[in-house]
Amino acid sequence: MAKFKTVVMTSVFIVFLLCGCESKAEPNVSDDISMTRDVFAMDTFMNMKAYGSNAEKALSEAEKRVYSLENELSVTSESSDIWSINHSQGEAVTICDDTAKLVNKAIEIGDKTNGALDITLYPVLKEWGFTGEEYKIPEQSVLNELLSYVDYSKIDIEGNTIIVPEKAEIDLGAVAKGYTGDEIMKIFKENGVKSAIVSLGGNVQALGSKPDGSDWKVAVRNPFSPDTDMCVITISDKAVITSGNYERFFTDDNGNRYWHILDPADGRPADNGLVSVTVIGDCGLDCDALSTALFVEGYENTKDFLRNNDGYDLILVTDDNIIFYTEGLIESFSNISDMEAEVIKLD
Ligand code: AMP
Ligand code: MG
Repeated sequence: MAKFKTVVMTSVFIVFLLCGCESKAEPNVSDDISMTRDVFAMDTFMNMKAYGSNAEKALSEAEKRVYSLENELSVTSESSDIWSINHSQGEAVTICDDTAKLVNKAIEIGDKTNGALDITLYPVLKEWGFTGEEYKIPEQSVLNELLSYVDYSKIDIEGNTIIVPEKAEIDLGAVAKGYTGDEIMKIFKENGVKSAIVSLGGNVQALGSKPDGSDWKVAVRNPFSPDTDMCVITISDKAVITSGNYERFFTDDNGNRYWHILDPADGRPADNGLVSVTVIGDCGLDCDALSTALFVEGYENTKDFLRNNDGYDLILVTDDNIIFYTEGLIESFSNISDMEAEVIKLD
Protein backbone atom coordinates (compact mmCIF):
# COMPACT_ATOMS: atom_id res chain seq x y z
CA MET A 1 0.00 0.00 0.00
CA ALA A 2 1.28 3.42 -0.94
CA LYS A 3 2.43 5.70 1.84
CA PHE A 4 -0.07 8.52 1.79
CA LYS A 5 0.56 12.12 2.57
CA THR A 6 -2.33 13.69 4.42
CA VAL A 7 -3.35 17.30 4.61
CA VAL A 8 -6.11 18.95 6.59
CA MET A 9 -6.55 22.70 6.12
CA THR A 10 -9.04 25.36 7.01
CA SER A 11 -10.17 27.47 4.12
CA VAL A 12 -11.31 30.87 5.23
CA PHE A 13 -10.05 33.00 8.06
CA ILE A 14 -10.71 36.28 9.65
CA VAL A 15 -8.13 38.80 8.51
CA PHE A 16 -7.14 39.81 11.99
CA LEU A 17 -6.36 36.56 13.72
CA LEU A 18 -8.08 35.51 16.88
CA CYS A 19 -5.58 34.14 19.30
CA GLY A 20 -5.15 32.77 22.79
CA CYS A 21 -6.11 29.54 24.48
CA GLU A 22 -8.71 30.85 26.82
CA SER A 23 -11.04 33.75 27.22
CA LYS A 24 -9.11 37.06 27.15
CA ALA A 25 -10.03 40.72 27.24
CA GLU A 26 -8.49 42.92 24.54
CA PRO A 27 -8.05 46.70 24.42
CA ASN A 28 -11.42 48.04 23.44
CA VAL A 29 -12.44 49.51 20.10
CA SER A 30 -15.05 52.28 20.03
CA ASP A 31 -15.47 52.07 23.81
CA ASP A 32 -16.32 48.42 23.54
CA ILE A 33 -14.66 45.38 25.04
CA SER A 34 -13.94 42.27 23.04
CA MET A 35 -13.39 38.78 24.36
CA THR A 36 -12.06 35.81 22.44
CA ARG A 37 -12.43 32.10 23.04
CA ASP A 38 -10.73 29.15 21.37
CA VAL A 39 -12.46 25.82 21.26
CA PHE A 40 -11.48 22.52 19.68
CA ALA A 41 -14.56 20.56 18.67
CA MET A 42 -15.87 18.65 15.63
CA ASP A 43 -12.26 17.95 14.71
CA THR A 44 -11.83 21.68 14.13
CA PHE A 45 -10.11 24.66 15.72
CA MET A 46 -12.75 27.27 16.39
CA ASN A 47 -12.18 30.89 17.37
CA MET A 48 -14.94 33.14 18.63
CA LYS A 49 -14.72 36.86 19.24
CA ALA A 50 -17.56 38.88 20.74
CA TYR A 51 -17.86 42.53 21.79
CA GLY A 52 -19.80 44.13 24.61
CA SER A 53 -20.35 43.77 28.33
CA ASN A 54 -22.03 40.35 27.97
CA ALA A 55 -19.34 38.92 25.72
CA GLU A 56 -17.83 36.58 28.28
CA LYS A 57 -21.18 35.05 29.28
CA ALA A 58 -22.19 34.73 25.62
CA LEU A 59 -18.91 33.00 24.76
CA SER A 60 -19.30 30.55 27.64
CA GLU A 61 -22.83 29.65 26.58
CA ALA A 62 -21.73 29.34 22.96
CA GLU A 63 -18.86 27.05 23.96
CA LYS A 64 -21.28 24.78 25.86
CA ARG A 65 -23.61 24.70 22.87
CA VAL A 66 -20.73 23.74 20.54
CA TYR A 67 -19.85 20.77 22.76
CA SER A 68 -23.46 19.67 23.05
CA LEU A 69 -23.91 19.82 19.27
CA GLU A 70 -20.72 17.83 18.87
CA ASN A 71 -22.17 15.16 21.19
CA GLU A 72 -25.44 15.02 19.29
CA LEU A 73 -24.01 15.05 15.79
CA SER A 74 -20.74 13.12 16.03
CA VAL A 75 -20.57 10.07 13.84
CA THR A 76 -18.13 8.33 16.20
CA SER A 77 -19.58 9.07 19.65
CA GLU A 78 -21.72 6.19 20.88
CA SER A 79 -24.10 8.57 22.64
CA SER A 80 -24.88 10.62 19.51
CA ASP A 81 -28.06 10.60 17.48
CA ILE A 82 -25.99 9.71 14.43
CA TRP A 83 -24.54 6.64 16.14
CA SER A 84 -28.07 5.51 17.09
CA ILE A 85 -29.26 6.00 13.50
CA ASN A 86 -26.26 4.18 12.05
CA HIS A 87 -26.78 1.21 14.35
CA SER A 88 -30.57 1.07 14.04
CA GLN A 89 -30.69 -1.71 11.41
CA GLY A 90 -33.72 -0.22 9.74
CA GLU A 91 -35.63 0.45 12.98
CA ALA A 92 -37.17 3.82 13.93
CA VAL A 93 -34.98 6.11 16.06
CA THR A 94 -36.02 9.16 18.08
CA ILE A 95 -33.72 12.11 17.42
CA CYS A 96 -33.38 15.59 18.86
CA ASP A 97 -34.59 18.74 17.10
CA ASP A 98 -31.10 19.72 15.89
CA THR A 99 -30.50 16.40 14.15
CA ALA A 100 -33.97 16.47 12.58
CA LYS A 101 -33.37 19.99 11.30
CA LEU A 102 -30.03 19.09 9.74
CA VAL A 103 -31.33 15.91 8.11
CA ASN A 104 -34.32 17.80 6.65
CA LYS A 105 -32.08 20.57 5.33
CA ALA A 106 -29.66 18.07 3.80
CA ILE A 107 -32.57 16.34 2.04
CA GLU A 108 -33.87 19.70 0.78
CA ILE A 109 -30.47 20.74 -0.61
CA GLY A 110 -29.92 17.25 -2.05
CA ASP A 111 -33.19 17.67 -3.94
CA LYS A 112 -32.16 21.13 -5.19
CA THR A 113 -28.76 19.95 -6.43
CA ASN A 114 -29.55 16.77 -8.39
CA GLY A 115 -28.56 14.60 -5.43
CA ALA A 116 -25.04 16.09 -5.21
CA LEU A 117 -25.43 16.35 -1.44
CA ASP A 118 -26.09 12.89 -0.08
CA ILE A 119 -25.69 12.35 3.67
CA THR A 120 -25.93 8.57 3.21
CA LEU A 121 -22.46 8.47 1.63
CA TYR A 122 -20.91 7.49 4.96
CA PRO A 123 -20.16 3.82 4.08
CA VAL A 124 -18.24 5.07 1.02
CA LEU A 125 -16.38 7.74 3.01
CA LYS A 126 -15.35 5.05 5.49
CA GLU A 127 -14.02 2.84 2.70
CA TRP A 128 -11.71 5.65 1.51
CA GLY A 129 -10.63 6.20 5.11
CA PHE A 130 -11.86 9.79 5.22
CA THR A 131 -13.47 9.16 8.59
CA GLY A 132 -10.13 8.27 10.18
CA GLU A 133 -6.57 8.61 8.92
CA GLU A 134 -6.12 5.16 7.34
CA TYR A 135 -6.52 6.15 3.72
CA LYS A 136 -6.85 3.75 0.82
CA ILE A 137 -8.00 3.81 -2.79
CA PRO A 138 -10.91 1.38 -3.06
CA GLU A 139 -11.66 -0.76 -6.11
CA GLN A 140 -14.57 0.61 -8.16
CA SER A 141 -16.42 -2.72 -7.66
CA VAL A 142 -16.25 -2.19 -3.88
CA LEU A 143 -17.48 1.39 -4.29
CA ASN A 144 -20.35 0.20 -6.49
CA GLU A 145 -21.42 -2.32 -3.89
CA LEU A 146 -21.37 0.34 -1.16
CA LEU A 147 -23.16 2.84 -3.41
CA SER A 148 -26.10 0.46 -3.52
CA TYR A 149 -26.81 1.54 0.11
CA VAL A 150 -26.46 5.24 -0.71
CA ASP A 151 -29.66 7.15 -1.39
CA TYR A 152 -30.80 9.96 0.86
CA SER A 153 -34.30 9.87 -0.69
CA LYS A 154 -34.89 6.60 1.19
CA ILE A 155 -34.57 8.37 4.54
CA ASP A 156 -37.96 8.45 6.20
CA ILE A 157 -38.17 11.36 8.66
CA GLU A 158 -41.33 12.52 10.38
CA GLY A 159 -40.93 15.04 13.21
CA ASN A 160 -38.35 13.55 15.59
CA THR A 161 -38.57 10.01 14.28
CA ILE A 162 -36.24 8.78 11.58
CA ILE A 163 -35.89 5.47 9.77
CA VAL A 164 -32.93 4.81 7.48
CA PRO A 165 -32.80 1.55 5.52
CA GLU A 166 -30.75 -1.34 6.85
CA LYS A 167 -27.04 -0.97 5.94
CA ALA A 168 -27.49 2.75 5.17
CA GLU A 169 -25.47 5.10 7.40
CA ILE A 170 -25.46 8.86 7.56
CA ASP A 171 -22.90 11.58 8.32
CA LEU A 172 -23.68 15.27 8.79
CA GLY A 173 -20.11 16.50 8.26
CA ALA A 174 -21.21 18.60 5.29
CA VAL A 175 -23.67 20.67 7.33
CA ALA A 176 -22.84 20.49 11.05
CA LYS A 177 -20.40 23.40 11.27
CA GLY A 178 -22.64 25.79 9.34
CA TYR A 179 -25.48 25.04 11.75
CA THR A 180 -23.13 25.44 14.71
CA GLY A 181 -22.28 28.94 13.43
CA ASP A 182 -25.99 29.80 13.30
CA GLU A 183 -26.50 28.53 16.84
CA ILE A 184 -23.55 30.56 18.14
CA MET A 185 -25.00 33.70 16.50
CA LYS A 186 -28.36 32.96 18.15
CA ILE A 187 -26.74 32.70 21.60
CA PHE A 188 -24.77 35.91 21.03
CA LYS A 189 -27.97 37.76 20.10
CA GLU A 190 -29.87 36.36 23.10
CA ASN A 191 -27.08 37.78 25.28
CA GLY A 192 -27.34 41.24 23.75
CA VAL A 193 -24.11 40.94 21.73
CA LYS A 194 -24.33 43.11 18.63
CA SER A 195 -20.92 42.57 17.14
CA ALA A 196 -19.11 39.24 16.87
CA ILE A 197 -17.22 37.02 14.47
CA VAL A 198 -16.39 33.33 14.60
CA SER A 199 -14.16 31.08 12.56
CA LEU A 200 -15.07 27.39 12.68
CA GLY A 201 -12.35 25.78 10.62
CA GLY A 202 -13.34 26.66 7.07
CA ASN A 203 -16.37 28.64 8.08
CA VAL A 204 -16.59 32.29 9.09
CA GLN A 205 -19.76 33.83 10.41
CA ALA A 206 -20.30 37.41 11.55
CA LEU A 207 -22.93 39.03 13.72
CA GLY A 208 -23.48 42.66 12.75
CA SER A 209 -20.49 44.73 11.72
CA LYS A 210 -17.39 45.75 13.63
CA PRO A 211 -18.11 47.93 16.67
CA ASP A 212 -16.96 51.01 14.71
CA GLY A 213 -19.63 50.29 12.10
CA SER A 214 -17.27 49.09 9.37
CA ASP A 215 -17.58 45.69 7.70
CA TRP A 216 -15.54 42.66 8.67
CA LYS A 217 -12.83 41.60 6.24
CA VAL A 218 -12.70 37.90 5.47
CA ALA A 219 -9.95 36.29 3.43
CA VAL A 220 -10.53 33.20 1.29
CA ARG A 221 -7.65 30.82 0.75
CA ASN A 222 -6.01 30.14 -2.57
CA PRO A 223 -6.84 26.48 -3.25
CA PHE A 224 -3.65 26.08 -5.31
CA SER A 225 -1.53 27.51 -2.53
CA PRO A 226 -3.54 27.06 0.66
CA ASP A 227 -1.00 28.87 2.84
CA THR A 228 -1.84 32.08 1.01
CA ASP A 229 -5.01 34.07 0.46
CA MET A 230 -6.71 34.52 -2.87
CA CYS A 231 -9.21 37.28 -2.19
CA VAL A 232 -10.73 39.37 0.55
CA ILE A 233 -14.41 40.22 0.87
CA THR A 234 -16.13 42.58 3.24
CA ILE A 235 -19.27 41.41 5.03
CA SER A 236 -21.63 42.09 7.89
CA ASP A 237 -24.19 39.68 9.32
CA LYS A 238 -23.24 36.88 6.96
CA ALA A 239 -21.75 33.39 6.81
CA VAL A 240 -18.80 32.73 4.48
CA ILE A 241 -18.35 29.01 3.97
CA THR A 242 -15.87 27.21 1.74
CA SER A 243 -15.53 23.65 0.48
CA GLY A 244 -12.24 22.91 -1.21
CA ASN A 245 -10.23 19.98 -2.50
CA TYR A 246 -7.25 21.06 -0.39
CA GLU A 247 -8.99 20.89 2.99
CA ARG A 248 -8.60 17.17 3.61
CA PHE A 249 -6.82 14.96 1.12
CA PHE A 250 -4.14 12.38 0.61
CA THR A 251 -1.82 11.75 -2.30
CA ASP A 252 -0.61 8.43 -3.70
CA ASP A 253 2.95 7.60 -4.77
CA ASN A 254 2.30 9.13 -8.20
CA GLY A 255 1.19 12.41 -6.71
CA ASN A 256 -2.51 11.92 -7.52
CA ARG A 257 -4.70 13.70 -5.04
CA TYR A 258 -7.82 12.18 -3.44
CA TRP A 259 -10.04 14.51 -1.45
CA HIS A 260 -12.87 14.22 1.05
CA ILE A 261 -15.85 15.49 -0.97
CA LEU A 262 -17.25 12.54 -2.90
CA ASP A 263 -19.48 12.44 -5.94
CA PRO A 264 -22.51 10.23 -5.15
CA ALA A 265 -22.56 9.29 -8.85
CA ASP A 266 -19.45 7.09 -8.60
CA GLY A 267 -18.27 7.29 -4.99
CA ARG A 268 -14.99 8.97 -5.99
CA PRO A 269 -13.64 12.44 -5.09
CA ALA A 270 -15.87 14.91 -6.94
CA ASP A 271 -13.93 16.22 -9.91
CA ASN A 272 -16.29 18.33 -11.95
CA GLY A 273 -14.09 21.33 -12.66
CA LEU A 274 -14.19 23.18 -9.33
CA VAL A 275 -11.43 23.13 -6.74
CA SER A 276 -13.06 25.53 -4.30
CA VAL A 277 -16.58 26.85 -3.67
CA THR A 278 -17.33 29.64 -1.20
CA VAL A 279 -20.95 30.42 -0.40
CA ILE A 280 -21.88 33.71 1.28
CA GLY A 281 -25.37 34.10 2.75
CA ASP A 282 -27.49 34.78 5.80
CA CYS A 283 -27.78 31.20 7.08
CA GLY A 284 -24.68 29.18 7.93
CA LEU A 285 -26.51 25.88 7.57
CA ASP A 286 -27.72 26.65 4.05
CA CYS A 287 -24.31 27.95 3.00
CA ASP A 288 -22.55 24.87 4.37
CA ALA A 289 -24.91 22.45 2.66
CA LEU A 290 -24.54 24.37 -0.59
CA SER A 291 -20.76 24.70 -0.53
CA THR A 292 -20.42 20.92 -0.47
CA ALA A 293 -23.23 20.31 -2.97
CA LEU A 294 -22.07 22.89 -5.51
CA PHE A 295 -18.50 21.66 -5.26
CA VAL A 296 -19.87 18.31 -6.48
CA GLU A 297 -22.14 19.94 -9.08
CA GLY A 298 -19.39 21.79 -10.96
CA TYR A 299 -19.46 25.16 -12.72
CA GLU A 300 -22.33 24.79 -15.23
CA ASN A 301 -24.77 23.18 -12.79
CA THR A 302 -23.85 25.81 -10.22
CA LYS A 303 -24.84 28.49 -12.73
CA ASP A 304 -28.19 26.70 -13.16
CA PHE A 305 -28.59 26.69 -9.40
CA LEU A 306 -27.98 30.45 -9.29
CA ARG A 307 -30.57 31.04 -12.01
CA ASN A 308 -33.20 29.32 -9.87
CA ASN A 309 -32.20 30.39 -6.34
CA ASP A 310 -31.71 33.87 -4.83
CA GLY A 311 -30.03 34.91 -1.64
CA TYR A 312 -26.47 33.65 -2.08
CA ASP A 313 -23.21 35.00 -3.38
CA LEU A 314 -20.53 32.62 -4.56
CA ILE A 315 -16.80 32.55 -5.20
CA LEU A 316 -15.81 29.60 -7.38
CA VAL A 317 -12.34 28.54 -8.41
CA THR A 318 -12.04 26.32 -11.47
CA ASP A 319 -9.33 23.73 -12.01
CA ASP A 320 -7.96 25.94 -14.79
CA ASN A 321 -7.14 28.69 -12.28
CA ILE A 322 -9.98 31.17 -12.78
CA ILE A 323 -11.89 32.80 -9.94
CA PHE A 324 -15.57 33.39 -10.72
CA TYR A 325 -17.72 35.47 -8.39
CA THR A 326 -21.33 36.62 -8.38
CA GLU A 327 -22.43 40.18 -9.19
CA GLY A 328 -23.51 40.81 -5.62
CA LEU A 329 -19.84 40.78 -4.59
CA ILE A 330 -18.60 43.39 -7.08
CA GLU A 331 -18.33 46.11 -4.40
CA SER A 332 -16.84 43.93 -1.69
CA PHE A 333 -14.47 41.59 -3.58
CA SER A 334 -10.70 42.25 -3.83
CA ASN A 335 -8.55 39.83 -5.79
CA ILE A 336 -5.15 39.56 -4.11
CA SER A 337 -3.90 36.63 -6.18
CA ASP A 338 -2.30 36.40 -9.60
CA MET A 339 -5.30 34.44 -10.88
CA GLU A 340 -7.79 35.92 -13.29
CA ALA A 341 -11.10 36.90 -11.62
CA GLU A 342 -14.38 37.23 -13.54
CA VAL A 343 -17.96 38.00 -12.64
CA ILE A 344 -20.30 35.04 -13.29
CA LYS A 345 -22.62 35.72 -16.24
CA LEU A 346 -25.95 33.94 -16.02
CA ASP A 347 -27.34 34.47 -19.54
P1 AMP B 1 -17.63 20.36 3.73
O1 AMP B 1 -16.29 20.57 4.30
O2 AMP B 1 -18.72 21.16 4.37
O3 AMP B 1 -17.67 20.49 2.24
O4 AMP B 1 -18.06 18.87 4.06
C1 AMP B 1 -17.26 17.79 3.70
C2 AMP B 1 -17.69 16.58 4.49
O5 AMP B 1 -19.00 16.17 4.08
C3 AMP B 1 -16.81 15.38 4.25
O6 AMP B 1 -15.73 15.36 5.15
C4 AMP B 1 -17.78 14.23 4.45
O7 AMP B 1 -17.95 13.97 5.82
C5 AMP B 1 -19.07 14.76 3.91
N1 AMP B 1 -19.29 14.55 2.46
C6 AMP B 1 -18.40 14.34 1.47
N2 AMP B 1 -19.00 14.29 0.26
C7 AMP B 1 -20.33 14.49 0.51
C8 AMP B 1 -21.48 14.58 -0.32
N3 AMP B 1 -21.42 14.48 -1.65
N4 AMP B 1 -22.68 14.76 0.29
C9 AMP B 1 -22.78 14.87 1.63
N5 AMP B 1 -21.74 14.83 2.47
C10 AMP B 1 -20.52 14.65 1.91
MG1 MG C 1 -20.47 21.98 3.63
